[in-house]
Amino acid sequence: EKDRKLSREEIITTMKENTLFSWNPTEAAANKALVMEKGEGVFFYDTNGKKYIDFNSQAMCSNLGHTVPEEVIKAVDQQLRSAAYAYPCAIVTPIKARLSKLLADIFPGDINHFYYVSGGAEANETAMRMVRLFTGRHKILARYRSYHGATLGAMTLTGDPRRWNSEPGASGVVHFMDPYPLSFKWGDNEEEIAQNSLKYLREVIDYEGAKNIAAIFLESVTGTNGILRPPKGYLEGVRQICDETGILMVCDEVMNGFGRTGEMFGFMNSKEVVPDIVTMAKGINGAFLPLGAVGCRDRVADHFKKNPIGIGSTYNSHPVTLASAYAALEYMLKNRVLDNVKTLEPVLKSLLEGLKSRHPTVKGFRSIGLFGTVELQKNSKGEPFIPFNGPPHPAITQLQEEVSKNGLYTLFRWSSFFTNPPLVITESELRYGFDILDKCLTNLDKHFEK
Ligand code: PLP
Repeated sequence: EKDRKLSREEIITTMKENTLFSWNPTEAAANKALVMEKGEGVFFYDTNGKKYIDFNSQAMCSNLGHTVPEEVIKAVDQQLRSAAYAYPCAIVTPIKARLSKLLADIFPGDINHFYYVSGGAEANETAMRMVRLFTGRHKILARYRSYHGATLGAMTLTGDPRRWNSEPGASGVVHFMDPYPLSFKWGDNEEEIAQNSLKYLREVIDYEGAKNIAAIFLESVTGTNGILRPPKGYLEGVRQICDETGILMVCDEVMNGFGRTGEMFGFMNSKEVVPDIVTMAKGINGAFLPLGAVGCRDRVADHFKKNPIGIGSTYNSHPVTLASAYAALEYMLKNRVLDNVKTLEPVLKSLLEGLKSRHPTVKGFRSIGLFGTVELQKNSKGEPFIPFNGPPHPAITQLQEEVSKNGLYTLFRWSSFFTNPPLVITESELRYGFDILDKCLTNLDKHFEK
């Protein structure tokens, strides 16, 4: 019985009878779910052998695709055989030393100190604890167009509506708007946008009192909330405000870290900016095992050399996950995965441009590296099929179903969808995915009102 192949129906029935889904009501989510039986390269296959190209790297995390490099398998196997687990408060492992040195080499500036957890939310939770202990201040600023994770603190940091279910949440978090509000513009060009949104941020800080604010958390390139790269000068401006006020700058690199944007970290697109603390997960090991981390600069680490960090967990610094990260990062560096992202960045842009030129329902797109999103419109007034946090629209539901039927998996969010393939994708695979999108958008165009 153990070796019998389960049918899709059996699997979905068990999902409904014996599991609960994240975020969405279980029944509806289970009914829509794809079954992944096998992953290979940038593709995965369901129980019937149907092939899907992965255009969202699952949760923007399977950056090395679905074939685990032999080096990673070997490293994990060896770690399991040598030291599978070590109590993090009292016992250290050679792999923890090796990975920490490698990360210190990879990170710019004096981000030399690393603390390991099990995922992105926990990394942000840890950073929240650190900034409060380091500064002795309580408040934390974060942005509305953001996602930082699902634990209480990280969820409170989060600006998007996923926060609402956990309200009132943790105390002390104040949200502010980023350079790209939904309904108005801070200016007509990048510089004006950057300067006006910084002016507004300064004003928020004045109202809250700089001496009460421990940190500003931000995604250096916003992920699920719209693939938004900061306008020129914005991150530099935030850095300057932080320097003037003693507020710590925390960059959430969970989604955009480790190459997604074409630079090793999203903040490196803004030359010269070095955050005080960086949180990371996902791409740190291609999501082959659950791992997150917090990195910090020397002066922050100096504090915690003498004072407790005030947090810990059983799976902190789990040696097997660390081994997977070390091997995955070595693989990334050896195989020049970043170069592949840089090479394909203009190809992705031109493919997105092609969709826009051919489909009236494509309002626009944004992309950086292999991080892309397409915004859809239902009419020539530019109105979205689904407004911010609005209910499903039948035309978008149909598009989603068609995309899936045609063998492409990606994430849809309201009136947009993402093009975030594994960073190891080839140009022909990228074009293959866009051919599917092209075909399906032709049907969506029938719903366009002139
Ligand atoms: N921060 C960002 C920017 C993310 O995109 C995510 C997840 O999508 C998280 C934090 C939370 O990470 P995790 O789901 O590993 O807790």
